[in-house]
Amino acid sequence: MKPSFRVLLVLLASGLLASLLIHAQTAKSPQQPMETSTQTPAQPEKPVKKSDDAWRKQLTPEQYRIARKGGTERPNGQVYQQFKKQGAGTYFCAGCDAELFSSKVKFDSHCGWPSFYDPSHAQNVKALPDPDGSRTEVKCAVCDAHLGHVFLGEGFNTPTDKRYCINGTVLKFVPAPTPEKDPQKK
Ligand code: FE
Repeated sequence: MKPSFRVLLVLLASGLLASLLIHAQTAKSPQQPMETSTQTPAQPEKPVKKSDDAWRKQLTPEQYRIARKGGTERPNGQVYQQFKKQGAGTYFCAGCDAELFSSKVKFDSHCGWPSFYDPSHAQNVKALPDPDGSRTEVKCAVCDAHLGHVFLGEGFNTPTDKRYCINGTVLKFVPAPTPEKDPQKK
């Protein structure tokens, strides 16, 4: 067998193995819709600290897996389809209600996960390098929930060229109030 063909076979096999592992990891926790509410939540006192057991009881299994264990939701899933259809509003942390992102800074990066180019309230979002230094993790600065990762300089036509790639499962969406319609006007 030619060495180049052998390399190709190894690459194909490892790619297949990686996709099987990702599938196995995400298949265990079925995706649920992103939380939505018509009420703007009261802002929590910082920091919010709870025991692992308390988080497990409060969150859905999928939220717990992502927020407390650094997991990742399946791309292009139900939550992402929902995110794409959402209009004006605000995104809060599903764990502690801290305000995280405004719909004004969401953009379509076509990556399969909700994308924002800037946190609306920077004090509630923190970024820190992954232990292996390959990526920058994004966490809720109030309850320390894992939210996703931030990538810089990818060439997106946004004011910051940052992509906050966020798991929608750990967000709570509150739509902006729609102005009351005047029944006199048509
Ligand atoms: Fe939080």
